[in-house]
Order: sequence, then structure tokens, then C-alpha cells
Amino acid sequence: MSSARGTANHVELYPGDTNEPVVTASLAGAGQDVAREAKLDVPPQESLAPTKLKIEGLSKAYGDFQALHPLDLDIREGELLTLLGPSGSGKTTLLQLIAGLVKPSTGKLLMDDIDQTALPANQRDVGVVFQNYALFPHLTVSENVAFPLRMRGEPRAQTLERVKEVLEMVGMGHLGDRFPDALSGGQQQRVALARCMIYRPSLILMDESLSALDRKLRETMQMEIRRLHRETGATIVFVTHDQEEALALSDRICLMNGGRIEQVGRPEEIYEHPESVFAANFIGVSNLFAGKTTDRGVMETVFGSLPLPESIAGGIEGTLVVRPEHIALNGDDRYLEGEVVERVYAGAETRLLIQVAPELVVTARQAAGASMLEIGSRVGLGWAAENARFLTR
Ligand code: ADP
Ligand code: MG
Repeated sequence: MSSARGTANHVELYPGDTNEPVVTASLAGAGQDVAREAKLDVPPQESLAPTKLKIEGLSKAYGDFQALHPLDLDIREGELLTLLGPSGSGKTTLLQLIAGLVKPSTGKLLMDDIDQTALPANQRDVGVVFQNYALFPHLTVSENVAFPLRMRGEPRAQTLERVKEVLEMVGMGHLGDRFPDALSGGQQQRVALARCMIYRPSLILMDESLSALDRKLRETMQMEIRRLHRETGATIVFVTHDQEEALALSDRICLMNGGRIEQVGRPEEIYEHPESVFAANFIGVSNLFAGKTTDRGVMETVFGSLPLPESIAGGIEGTLVVRPEHIALNGDDRYLEGEVVERVYAGAETRLLIQVAPELVVTARQAAGASMLEIGSRVGLGWAAENARFLTR
């Protein structure tokens, strides 16, 4: 059992609210940063895991184009860290730099405190699973999986033993004699995973490995990966553009945007405390209200004044973020009013779209069983002030 995994249960015991700081006075930017740091205070047990991979000032330019701006990132021993971001944000580039498949323009990379920057890919203790599984079509499943050990000149008997073991691990023990073209996408994915795990790399990199699978299979494979991660204790860096996948899988998410790191944190940390409008938009659904703070402790918007979650100096332009689940309909606090224009039924909840102004539609949620608001009905919108986030970038 890996240490990072071990902290996962623990994390639930520390919901964001318990380390909510009391910000009494605040000064524009500086005060916000203090507040943010205090909120994101990492629970002490997380710092117990040593750093597996230390990335310092690493960057990559292709000619004039900066694919990756210099960035720092610590990946902890045994954690499953997801690089999440839109297409072109630099996820694959970062993964290739970690694997040693691409040379960095600046910066360095330390694994277990040893500088790897100049080390060729085949000498790094790193396994890579690519999106297009890249299985050898003329080799059987067992031969594909055995390939890395054969390349390393391992004794045959030992290799066979180990092939059996990893095929069992990924639930493919009965299909060793098949050829890749007689396997489903999910089965090929398992073989690719087994081939990566057979030489027990202490760091596994997976680039959009599940993106080609249909939803049901993808969810099954996500659980498999979590289980393998738990059982092997390997450190995994997983790349995806799918925020749901990142939320479901990750110990931590490294959110990327335009070749830079936007935010790093536990899934619930980023969801509850997005640090930028980009983060608030990319992970989950957000209602965004742009405006300017006043000396009276509210934010003025074109739709009216909205309460601030904390005391913030006047005159600051920013965006207030409110998640749909925090919007109260016809409750005690009503800051906005609108008309229900759409209802989307989703089993346990119904999503309501409420037109507040021609250019503002607010998303709210109603739990199953609540008395349903009909399309066309007028509704008052409010939220507990502390459930909103005020963002300045
Ligand atoms: P992601 O994996 O997040 O989709 P990539 O890391 O593949 O993003 O790409 C980041 C940016 O770098 C993209 O704009 C891409 O076009 C560019 N890029 C990647 N590889 C090369 C290359 N070999 N030459 C030039 N530009 C590249
Ligand atoms: Mg990519």
C-alpha cells in the first residue's frame, strides 16, 4: 500500500471548511494570497511521502514556440498525479520530458534525488503507456508482455513466471495466447499496462491511455488502475483532458493551461478552491459573475450587488464563482432573480438553467424529490456568502 494512497481516506476527515482561515482585514492582492495559502494548508500527513520526482525550471521550446514554460513540480512517492488540461496545454510534452524522450530547453529533473536530466530514456526507471497501445501485432499477448524482459536479457523461466503474474494482475491470465487483433480495446489496454508493469518501474507514465475506450470500459479501467496503483505502490503520472476522469482517479491534479501549471492540488481542493477562472471553468460547472468590489463589502455587477465571501478591499475587479450546488432557490437570501428556462433530469438531481439577464444563465441543482420548478417559473437565487470564491485572475 502506498503512502499517498494511505492518506486518501484521511483527507476526507479534513473537509476544506475545517481549515478555513478567518480573514479579518484584507488588502487587495496580498491579503488574498495569504488567505489562499491558509486555505490550502496541506494536512501534515501528506508531507510524509518523500519526493519521487522533482522538476525544477523545466521548459521546452520548439523553435520560437514555447510548448512548456519553465515550471516546478514535486511528485510524491506513491501518488497518482494527473496532468489535466485542454489539448495543446503541454501535457504530453511534460510527460515526454519526464520519460527522457524529449530534451528539455531549460531546467532539470531529479528522481529519488538523483539528477536524471542527461540520462537517456532507456536508462530511466520509468514505464510509459501510450494512448495507441503500440502492441506488436505479430506477437501474442504473452510475447508482447515478455518483450521488455527479453530486451533486458532476463532468464526465460523467470520471464515466463513474471508474464503469468502481471497478466493475472490485469485480469488477462486466460488470454496469453491471443494476438492483439483478436482483443477488444479494453483488453489491449490491459496488455499495454501489463507490458509496462512487467519490469516494475517505480514511475509509470500514462498518456491519455483510456481516452479511446467507451465510457463504461473507461470507468472499469479507472478502477483497475486505482487497484494496481494501490497494490504496486508505484508512482503514476496520468495524462487526461477529461476532468471527470481526473477527479475520479487522482490523488492530486496538476491543471495545465497554455504550457503552464495553472493549479496543483487534491481534486476536492481544486474543486472547492479554484484559484483562477480557468480552473473554476475547467473543473466542474461554475457560475461566474464579473464585477468590482466596493468599500461596503460587496461586489457590484451589472446584475446587482453580490456579497463577498470574505472581507476584501474596495475597487478590485474580479470574478465571483458559485458552484451550482450552492445556489439556493427561493431561499432566505435572494440576490438575483430569473426565469427557469431549462430542466435537465439526471437521476439523483435535476439541473436547472435560470436566465437572469440576456447574457447570464445561472446553473443550479435540485435534489431528486424536491418539488420541481416548472419551466417559465420565476425564481429567486441566493447562496451562503462564504460558499462563493472571489478570483482576480
Ligand atoms: P497536449 O498533450 O496537452 O495536448 P502537447 O504537449 O502535445 O499538448 O503540445 C503542446 C504544444 O506544443 C502544442 O501547441 C503542440 O502543437 C506543440 N508541440 C508539441 N510537440 C511539438 C513538436 N515536436 N514540434 C513543434 N511543436 C510541438
Ligand atoms: Mg497529448
